[in-house]
Amino acid sequence: MERRERQLRVRNSQGHSIRVVRELYLREDIPCHSPLCLAGCETPLNQGTHTGLAKEVTHYLIPDAQVTTDYLEILEVTELTGIVFTQSVTDYVQHEGGRRLHNRLKSLIKNGRKGSVLFNNEFQKFSYCERQAGEALQDWLTRSTYQSSVWYYDHLAGKIPIVMVTENREFLEEHENKKINVFVMDMKGYLDTFWSHLSGIDDLFEALTAAKEESVSKAEDEYSGYLPLAVLEAGIKAGRFVQGNLHVNKHNPMQEAFIKRTSAQSASEASHMDSDILIPGMGTRNRAIHGDSVVVELLPRPQWKGKSLAIKENEEEQLSNVSGTSPEEEEDMGDVMPTGRVVGILQRNWRDYVVSFSQDEAGQKNPGRAGKVLVIPWDYRIPKIRISTRQVDTLRECRIIVRIDSWPADSAYPNGHLVKSLGTIGDIETEVAALLVENTITVAPFSDGQLKELPVNSEDDPWVMEPIEVSRRKDLRTSHLIFSIDPKGCEDVDDTLSVRKLPNGHLELGVHIADVTYFVPSGSLTDLEAQSRSTTVYLADRRYDMLPGVLSSDLCSLISNVDRFAVSVIWELDQQMEVVGVWYGRTVIRSQYKLFYEIAQAMHDGMSDEELVANIPELQKLHGDTLNKSLAELKEAVNMLMHVSRHLKARRTLGGALELEGAEVQVQMDDTKKIEDLTPKAHLEIHDTIAECMIFANHWVARKIADSYPNQALLRHHPLPREGHFENLIQCAKAKGFEIRTDSNKALAESLDKCVDPEDPMVNKLLRSLATQAMSNAMYFSTGAISRDQFFHYGLALDRYTHFTSPIRRYADVIVHRQLLSAIGQMESHDLLSNNNLSDLCQHINNKHRSAQNAQRDSQELFQALFFRDKHPDDECCKVDAVIFQLRANGFLVFIPRYGIKGPVYLRSKEGQVVYISETEQPEWTSGTVQRSWTSVTVDSVLGSHTYNLFDHVTVKLSLQLSHAHPSSLRLDLVSNERHQSWVDIALETTEKTDIVKEVHTAAEEKPEKVVNFDLGSDFNRLQEMYGQTAEKDSLYSLFQSFREMALV
Ligand SMILES: [Zn+2]
Repeated sequence: MERRERQLRVRNSQGHSIRVVRELYLREDIPCHSPLCLAGCETPLNQGTHTGLAKEVTHYLIPDAQVTTDYLEILEVTELTGIVFTQSVTDYVQHEGGRRLHNRLKSLIKNGRKGSVLFNNEFQKFSYCERQAGEALQDWLTRSTYQSSVWYYDHLAGKIPIVMVTENREFLEEHENKKINVFVMDMKGYLDTFWSHLSGIDDLFEALTAAKEESVSKAEDEYSGYLPLAVLEAGIKAGRFVQGNLHVNKHNPMQEAFIKRTSAQSASEASHMDSDILIPGMGTRNRAIHGDSVVVELLPRPQWKGKSLAIKENEEEQLSNVSGTSPEEEEDMGDVMPTGRVVGILQRNWRDYVVSFSQDEAGQKNPGRAGKVLVIPWDYRIPKIRISTRQVDTLRECRIIVRIDSWPADSAYPNGHLVKSLGTIGDIETEVAALLVENTITVAPFSDGQLKELPVNSEDDPWVMEPIEVSRRKDLRTSHLIFSIDPKGCEDVDDTLSVRKLPNGHLELGVHIADVTYFVPSGSLTDLEAQSRSTTVYLADRRYDMLPGVLSSDLCSLISNVDRFAVSVIWELDQQMEVVGVWYGRTVIRSQYKLFYEIAQAMHDGMSDEELVANIPELQKLHGDTLNKSLAELKEAVNMLMHVSRHLKARRTLGGALELEGAEVQVQMDDTKKIEDLTPKAHLEIHDTIAECMIFANHWVARKIADSYPNQALLRHHPLPREGHFENLIQCAKAKGFEIRTDSNKALAESLDKCVDPEDPMVNKLLRSLATQAMSNAMYFSTGAISRDQFFHYGLALDRYTHFTSPIRRYADVIVHRQLLSAIGQMESHDLLSNNNLSDLCQHINNKHRSAQNAQRDSQELFQALFFRDKHPDDECCKVDAVIFQLRANGFLVFIPRYGIKGPVYLRSKEGQVVYISETEQPEWTSGTVQRSWTSVTVDSVLGSHTYNLFDHVTVKLSLQLSHAHPSSLRLDLVSNERHQSWVDIALETTEKTDIVKEVHTAAEEKPEKVVNFDLGSDFNRLQEMYGQTAEKDSLYSLFQSFREMALV
């Protein structure tokens, strides 16, 4: 081994850069990470998250330090794979590029889908390149990159061309054609040669080049105007400063932002420290942007302020709870709360932002900065961004993506650059693309590399089970009657059931789940992709799968009459439904029936045999005695299942499980994709039955893995609600004379059950919905990360819980399958994640789930908007009944049962006028005041006065408020103080059909609204024939398949 000395710069704990001399030991066995290697470098393939250099590439790309710094964003583009970053380059980025850039580079290298690696060139005897006396840093870095490029070419025996990219002109001219198949290009030349087909890449290159030139002219420190890191850290430790994420109130974005404290921080401190910290106005926000991780200094008490209690414009819903403030306070202000100002930024959490140009010319010219334009983000919480572009005229009607580069201390706005256009505002594809970007969801098609890993199943080449694999499993194909019950049209069936009487009089219940991990080994490309996506994303009109179609709707889907691999949990239950034995393991199953909810319910409710047969295709092939016998068996099984579930559920309810409320509405579309109506969804007992079986399986799997891996099992917990959060619920119930007890989940469940107004089922429904809002979110965690007494699931009243039953659609379930299979010795356990890695993964999955839910909500709102866009204002469907459920200083929030929508109704306008509805039923805006008390809000006008109480019904008119820059929203105008005519019909209908009060929120959690609740109609088969062969995105058939119910919460 040779020894060299080299000067290095290292950052010490105070953040200062210091020089040290390090000894370098040069070796010959530094791995190249290439699958083409013949030299036998040890490859890091078994490190789980790393897969080495991409296989499917025409060349390897080696950028020098300057290119990596200036054009990292281009290197991050998904299509660019097989990039080698030398250690010299990453060192440079770490010390000169700033923390954010270095983090991005690290995550690029870690991202298995990029097939890119770090090459330790400075430890490699033959690629090491000594800096010469007097040589400029950049020149040396470029030269060293070239030396590594040559080394790669030689080391791989010329099997693949190497492209080195540099902007060093002199070097370019000299080395362009110096060695065959080691190409030296500038970025522009590289993109033109290899990537000219990628849309938007030219624009991105130009934008980055422009941004680069600008930053040269004015060097900006990312963190100037903030306290140094060392001071921030000391302040946090001493309790003088508080650290947290900045959360801007989207209804009042210029005035209000909050810092949410972590519970660990607040628990140990005084009671006032428990609340969030208010950051009032843009000045105290000190250039922090929504989502940034910041450090704040608390202001002295006399400077504390209250948050606004008025409804602000553009408020469509109020998700946060109004804390217990008294109405005698200042008119529109709540109690004062801890107030602070931002003194430092720990981490910028900037993402891609969807923006558009201002519609009025004047608003666009940016004072003082020539050639610059201000753009308006789609998200109200993000400030306007200054970009330079020559494309204002061509992109005026478009939504575009921009990224923020910096926010100089002397500027009112951050600087950014244009990334690409999403298309014309108002087009459905543009709007859907926008909401995906806003929720940081990427939906690129699965790559060839991923698809190549997967088994094939086609007519010519059908997939068959390997006999050796079958012999390793318990075979249930003939011994058990297995069936599935899902929404109509569901294609990704991940759960099936069986139930039968045992000779000893006991019952045997089985839950059989798709064996996804058999097809998706840990660390494979498909696994990395699924991990990155974490969940299938369901939008109102389409879905983006977590796993490729050959798995999600074919080989893993437990459809009827085919053999499938499963992972089963099978219990033996005695007469009291106590578990006397449980078996976990891999199985082979053959589902006999793929039922949908309505037909399974009808089977129990006594539908005639003829009708049943007409609705169950699997029975139609049978005749005579076989038919009768099969039908009788199936009916018995469904009834037995419902019977078992009732018992299981009763036991959980006794333990304090909550029935919560989410208004669920389904969208009905006609065949031209026009929405015909939005109607509340009927609830059936069979929904509970299936949900209960899934809860049972999840619970028992949680027990098994938590016992086997006390420090690294993936569980799901639902924490206790924060006490103050029930205030609004308690007050609302009190207004109706009900008492809500919140001391335990059981007390809460029981008191909610008693809040029944025989005249108005809405009262109970709304109170449950308020209870739901007060809850914390359920989260995934690693058992090593929190103490054992925190494992419980509050809403389900279980001591341990996890997700096991939907591995096709949720990545958490994939991990849980691996843990269960390891625990029972059916899978190697070396793949299991450590507590730390699992905790990081849980965080990632939790974030992805939240994003998916937000995207779903945004898409539902988009479709609501489309529905009302096409309606005449006098259309019958725009005038609806609404129930008041929250009071504000200038109006109230209502729930609209017909559409399951919540929204604000203003009694006082921005101009200070109030609305009064006279005898003639004509709303008039006049001068007057609005007074709010605990249970009512009163309008006093020159024409007369009226008091609105909680739970009053009124009639509102819905109209669409179109917006150019932001999502369009619904406007609710009060038209009558009386309930709407249609209310009576709806109330009758819904109570007749089913007890609407019994909607179970937990069911929604277990069976997240999967696919279609949409009747595919008689034309479906013809359409499938006609369009089933077309590429998915062009297919009308897939359009039909993708309509699915909307759940409006
Ligand atoms: Zn090698």
